[in-house]
Amino acid sequence: MDLEKRKRFLTQIKRVKSGCHEWLGTIYKNGYGAFWYENHQQLAHRAAWNLLKNESIPAGKCVLHRCDNRSCVNPEHLYIGTRADNNRDTMERSPRRTPFAQVQKARELVASGVSQRKVAAEIGVSQAQISKYVRFKDRVLR
Ligand SMILES: [Zn+2]
Repeated sequence: MDLEKRKRFLTQIKRVKSGCHEWLGTIYKNGYGAFWYENHQQLAHRAAWNLLKNESIPAGKCVLHRCDNRSCVNPEHLYIGTRADNNRDTMERSPRRTPFAQVQKARELVASGVSQRKVAAEIGVSQAQISKYVRFKDRVLR
């Protein structure tokens, strides 16, 4: 029976270059996907955790995005955290929310030996921001 739901879920995603699985179904105003599941409309990324990881979400915990893309339901881009983690993520990433693809590009350039200062100039963010992308590398699975 879960297989059926899983199948239904998987027909509603689009795999994009960044590695994200974008939700093609309903998207809430806040950017999260919605999936009708177990008699409720649920957040699609939470349903992804249940259905694709085959794990339940511990009570009171949140499913968070490593990729900063709220409509993404790739289980590899999701992790379990607390509400506090969620708030902290939001604070770390705002006010400047850089598209994930750009963050990846910055990481690649730095990894290939380009100085953080140069990468910052090219992408148009501060060097401190580049340093942050590099330091938080372990947050993103590729
Ligand atoms: Zn993603």
